[in-house]
Amino acid sequence: MDSLLRLPPAVEAEKLYGREAVKEELRRAVGMGGTDPLKLLSSARRALDGRFAPTLLRAINATGVLLHTNLGRSPLSTPARDALLRVAAGYSTLEYDPETGGRGHRQSHVRSAARDLFGSQDAIAVNNNASAIFLCLSALARGRRVLVSRGELVAIGGSFKIPEILEASGAVLAEVGTTNRTSIEDYRRALSSETALLLTVHPSNYEIRGFTKRPELGQIAALAREAGIPWVHDQGTGCVVPLDEFGVAAEPTVASCLAGGADLVTFSADKLFGGPQAGFVAGRADLVARLAAHPVARVVRLDKLVLAALAATIAAWKTGKWRDFPVYRAAGQSLDHLRNRGEKIQGAVRRRAPAAALELVGANAFFGGGTSPEKPFPSRALAVSLSGLSAEELVSRLRSAEPPIVARIEEGRLLLDLRSVDPDEDAMLIEILSRLAARVVSSRTKSNLSS
Ligand SMILES: *Cc1c(COP(=O)(O)O)cnc(C)c1O
Repeated sequence: MDSLLRLPPAVEAEKLYGREAVKEELRRAVGMGGTDPLKLLSSARRALDGRFAPTLLRAINATGVLLHTNLGRSPLSTPARDALLRVAAGYSTLEYDPETGGRGHRQSHVRSAARDLFGSQDAIAVNNNASAIFLCLSALARGRRVLVSRGELVAIGGSFKIPEILEASGAVLAEVGTTNRTSIEDYRRALSSETALLLTVHPSNYEIRGFTKRPELGQIAALAREAGIPWVHDQGTGCVVPLDEFGVAAEPTVASCLAGGADLVTFSADKLFGGPQAGFVAGRADLVARLAAHPVARVVRLDKLVLAALAATIAAWKTGKWRDFPVYRAAGQSLDHLRNRGEKIQGAVRRRAPAAALELVGANAFFGGGTSPEKPFPSRALAVSLSGLSAEELVSRLRSAEPPIVARIEEGRLLLDLRSVDPDEDAMLIEILSRLAARVVSSRTKSNLSS
């Protein structure tokens, strides 16, 4: 070991990773049966490089789901990225008011613009929508009852469960109605002097069909007013403009929920809002003031990078530049445009790797991120096959490419949906597919020769 550690590659690795880590990997390499010192050192070095390599990587989203929670939801717009970089590179006026030279407020960077954008009396931005709801419940309903329809006691994604968040906040759940049917009379019957607020949840990622009933928004607003309790609506997606032009109908906007009488509306900033991970509560000024004054507001406060990106995103909405957001550029691409891109990729890969079979097919894309029960809209995909590789093997090879390509399998075929792939990534897609196809063909040729 000591003689190994004196060799130049070991000295170099030690400078980067420390003596103990190098020794550990060398022992492992020796344990695997290696004897050649240089081979041992290079395998230890590879292992160390791998161990310390970043794992949060840029990826190519070919799933067709534009707001994919596992892939980081919304990519940021150019103004948001620029603002984030500017603030990241130096000091900032995060809590400093250059006009007075006195202390400023973190929320002031987003507050008035958010008020303008949503037409709400006031707004507060926090870490995410789960935080927004947790803050509402902690500040307005701790130790008291919260009415929620049984049809809305939902889990969104793997970790957002309304009953658990409610319990963690110290509020007490009062279930109303049944899973498929809840009427305004059910809400009225569940009211008591212990009721602190009424919570409704947008059915983001599920749909209850058939024999169903839920009260009109106006009825809920009227009941909450009559009972003198706030109505908090978890809108979820942060939809600002109707999505009908993209082929997704009836997604309620934040403003329409407020106009419908909700006292507070909560939503994520990294879904249809197209910003960084954050959550908003917009609505009545007296209630927002109670939220802002609560200790949980400090626990879930935003950092400066997110605030910079969020403020730039709101400004871009205000000035009508939202069609340039990556999500809406992707959603707005015509089927002709997607077909053209697909044909170009097809042609380029065929020229470089004739063994790859790429077929352009119709597909369904989704906004995702809990947009009105996951309504599909038309897209185009490349169905890829390589003889000798199953769709599952192909998917896993693409996953381990640099950058990773995330695809989906449909009816046994690997599909690369072009709607969620940024056109700037097409060249990379061509490169990775061609190289993969060439490698598969050459390893097949080798194994044919040796058999
Ligand atoms: C996405 C979503 C959430 C969770 O939001 P996060 O920002 O991930 O915390 C909660 N409720 C609804 C209705 C949603 O769509």
